[in-house]
Amino acid sequence: MGLFSGHGSKNEKPDSRFLVAGAEVTCPQCQNNLFHEGKAQLNTAAMSLMNLDWVNKSATTLVCSRCSFISWYLEGPTKLD
Ligand SMILES: [Zn+2]
Repeated sequence: MGLFSGHGSKNEKPDSRFLVAGAEVTCPQCQNNLFHEGKAQLNTAAMSLMNLDWVNKSATTLVCSRCSFISWYLEGPTKLD
């Protein structure tokens, strides 16, 4: 479904907690700590035109399970079990 792989599919993974730079990820909007992990491609023509080729890779997105706020990470966050 669009940008986010797995979103809305039957095999949807359960929401999880994540660690980034040694700190647990919390939603800046609602302070929730459960997120749905996804991937988004950043290699768009616009990025190349703007000389942002360094960003030509996929980013990890964490979608808040409560309010749907999207956090973007170039370096993949660590999933907490
Ligand atoms: Zn939230």
